[in-house]
Amino acid sequence: MSTVLESALLPTYPPAPVTFVAGDGVWLVDADGKRYLDFAAGIAVVGLGHRHPVPLAAAHAQLDKLWHASNLFATEPAAALATKLSERFGGAQAFFCNSGAEANEAALKYARKATGKTGVVALSGGFHGRTTGALAATGQPAKRAAFEPLLAGVRFAEPNDAASLHAAAGEDVGLILLEPVLGEGGVIPLTPEFAAAAAELADELGALLCFDEVQTGIGRTGTFFAWEQLGVKPDLVTLAKALANGLPIGALLVADEAAGAFQPGDHGSTFGGNPVVCAAACAVLDTVDDALLALVREYGSVLLAGLARFPHVVEARGGGLLVGAQLDVPAAAIVSAALDAGLVCLTSGQDVLRLAPPLVVSGAEVDLALSILSEVLS
Ligand code: PLP
Repeated sequence: MSTVLESALLPTYPPAPVTFVAGDGVWLVDADGKRYLDFAAGIAVVGLGHRHPVPLAAAHAQLDKLWHASNLFATEPAAALATKLSERFGGAQAFFCNSGAEANEAALKYARKATGKTGVVALSGGFHGRTTGALAATGQPAKRAAFEPLLAGVRFAEPNDAASLHAAAGEDVGLILLEPVLGEGGVIPLTPEFAAAAAELADELGALLCFDEVQTGIGRTGTFFAWEQLGVKPDLVTLAKALANGLPIGALLVADEAAGAFQPGDHGSTFGGNPVVCAAACAVLDTVDDALLALVREYGSVLLAGLARFPHVVEARGGGLLVGAQLDVPAAAIVSAALDAGLVCLTSGQDVLRLAPPLVVSGAEVDLALSILSEVLS
């Protein structure tokens, strides 16, 4: 394995173990020509696999028409994408930006404007991004410590503990911000009971409930939105990662029931809603259909059952193709050994191995990943 010279990059990430030069479906190729089965999908981003022909063709066609016009003008792809997302959500308006953190910043501002309140309840172990507002709501103290003071008024509750949710709440709370599955915090799915308690609490407080579906959205957990499985429709949803299959995009969806807070001038983004990215995202939405979602659920169950049988796996959990294996050994060493063996996977915290393959993965590729992991974990 070899990597490109990295000394000109700020060292915000550990040194990269490999340089990828090409991708095709569920496979990546490194600079030495070695092929890898990709069960990371660029951290749950390349949902349809590398170079999927439908978003690829849509982006190419848009590149040939119009790249950028600014949000001072309408463009067809952004309007079409907002309409498609509204249909999937069941009535919502969209704001487009460029990342998950930006989508959560938009949610933080929207809730302030809509409720007139600045308090936020989020979850211990949750992750919402690295910008200062999103970081303030990220329940991982080590990521926040060097940058405090951050946005004031954020309190943390324990996942799936309704009593701690109530203890964190107060009259000042205008936003409850939750990931349906804590993707960076150990792959912890919220229970429907906890989600219902959060929705009830938001109602009582006059706060908005936002699901951060940056990682769980666009079919990752086996339904288009993960909240569909929780039975709780939120006021706000944030999306990013898989929305354009790897081109940068974020979105805040505001349910029609919570509409009206943002007026012209309240928020914006130069690149948000870029026509090329939105054209790719429209193609993604057209491709993530019921048949694909059924496969996501099926192969997710196969992965869970397979992992649960391996040595060093204390618990396998997750939903659809966002799967975590709690290990009794450090997860980073397993991810590194898997990479050597030709399988790309992820950690989620210190001791959780995370798998998030493209949603188009085949049964044979799931079996191959499991057989590599059974060697690595033996
Ligand atoms: N929210 C969740 C749930 C995430 O998993 C992430 C990234 O991992 C973010 C927000 C931040 O997204 P971005 O890195 O695009 O800013």
